[in-house]
Amino acid sequence: MQRSIFSRFLNNIPSQCAVCKAWPSNGMVCEACITRFAQPVRRCATCALTLKVGKSADIKRCGACIVKPPPLDECLTAVSYEYPWSDCIASYKFGNNPAWAGMFALLLKSAPSVEFAVDESDLIVPVPLSVARLQQRGYNQALEICKHLSRSKTDATLLLRFKDTLTQSSLSKSERLKNVKAAFAVEPLRAKELQGKRVLLVDDVMTSGATLFAAAAALRQAGATNITAVVFARTESD
Ligand SMILES: [Zn+2]
Ligand SMILES: [Zn+2]
Repeated sequence: MQRSIFSRFLNNIPSQCAVCKAWPSNGMVCEACITRFAQPVRRCATCALTLKVGKSADIKRCGACIVKPPPLDECLTAVSYEYPWSDCIASYKFGNNPAWAGMFALLLKSAPSVEFAVDESDLIVPVPLSVARLQQRGYNQALEICKHLSRSKTDATLLLRFKDTLTQSSLSKSERLKNVKAAFAVEPLRAKELQGKRVLLVDDVMTSGATLFAAAAALRQAGATNITAVVFARTESD
């Protein structure tokens, strides 16, 4: 499957491909690298893990999600969290390079079902950072991606975050899960705005899903009826 949509969004400013260093490339990553590294694969509908080759086409979910469905109606991603995208994400998050957001949104929009999900959603909500983390980084990497998906639907003040998960790394897995559950809340004065709404919950990377699930639970509690997670990259094991 070719990513024809990519050429529609190309800007005309030539630059060097961040992956293969080819020059000129009409974007941060050249078309040849996108074709090579960002081909769509069949993924679980609710956790976005790659489904094993050979699984029947009518099987839409992985075994874990069939046994215990996650609190997401759908989970969509553009790429697996591996080379070269893991490097691009590091440059985005830790290299003070927010321009990557446009590239990631472009790849998301050309991934199966994402544009449809953006169109169908009432609200696009980025996974928030805590105030301390936001001050440290200067921007919320999830919010920047949202703006490129649909600026008019993006709402970055509805969901609040009280603490970061990474600061909990000294805790056991179950303690961390408990902790992340209490990390999110919907802005109390605005909770009504979520009733009956279809929400797109956006983050840059999904690993165990604990953060997304906790954020989804807060949105669901406020009355959101459909929550689709959209993440640029998905790790291939939890
Ligand atoms: Zn390239
Ligand atoms: Zn799954």
